[in-house]
Amino acid sequence: MRLHQKVCVITGAGSGIGQETALLFGREQAIVVVADIDLEKAKETTGLIEAAGGQAVSLHADVTDPASAKGMIDETIRLYGRIDVLFNNAGISGVGMLHEIEPEAWDRVMSVNIKGVYLASKYALPPMMEQKSGSIINMSSCIAEIGLARRASYAATKGAVLSLTKSMQVDYAPYGIRINALLPGTIMTPFVENYLKTSYDDPEAAIESLKKRQLSGDLGRPADVANAALFLASDESKFMMGSPLYIDGGVVFG
Ligand code: NAD
Repeated sequence: MRLHQKVCVITGAGSGIGQETALLFGREQAIVVVADIDLEKAKETTGLIEAAGGQAVSLHADVTDPASAKGMIDETIRLYGRIDVLFNNAGISGVGMLHEIEPEAWDRVMSVNIKGVYLASKYALPPMMEQKSGSIINMSSCIAEIGLARRASYAATKGAVLSLTKSMQVDYAPYGIRINALLPGTIMTPFVENYLKTSYDDPEAAIESLKKRQLSGDLGRPADVANAALFLASDESKFMMGSPLYIDGGVVFG
């Protein structure tokens, strides 16, 4: 078992990629801290982990709020005395051409997708530094490196996550902490289903056109990303530091 008794905090673990990763980590015998702004969804994930014989706890956490992010880490330390893995997964979408985006919507996507990574890491790093070990996995996206229509605000956050990951790694390598980024392509989750429903008249046709841009010929599944997160969480990736890991089906954007 690759995460036996490792204390793993996953933000946004009530849905999609975060939930799938929490279930996988549970099967790998981790102690999973299932954190989400939606406590009911977090409890669903915890219930599924426990039903499969794993160990988990649900926490309400809003990663945009310093007190809430600190509370998530403090509670983890109070319960288990350490934190081995932080998966900064929580994220929201941002859609629209730049001139159409309202300042409040801009601030919201920045707040969840980049400030949230900063805040959860800020509070998780001191205990990791004391332990002289830890793995932080930051959720970026392939959009950090390619242009896509009507996604500028979202892309800006994911590019920032990638830059943050590299500079964080330089600062915390002396403490035995590894910090890497995941760059998924299109993964079928509630997040993408919502985006397709609200952005296209014919979501099914949009899915087919997205598939055509993939070398894989298909879109990704949450398990594809969860497997990559497991690799980054475990010692199998001990020589990876500050790296972007692509899980994008070989996406070919024009
Ligand atoms: P999802 O909507 O299924 O899950 C996101 C979860 O984050 C939800 O449970 C939501 O309640 C939670 N959340 C939202 N705001 C929060 C906050 N302020 N504090 C704590 N939790 C919060 O989405 P998903 O598709 O599983 O996406 C997960 C991550 O992966 C996001 O960062 C997303 O940007 C990234 N990503 C997704 C795709 C994709 O195609 N699905 C591709 C690349 C990157």
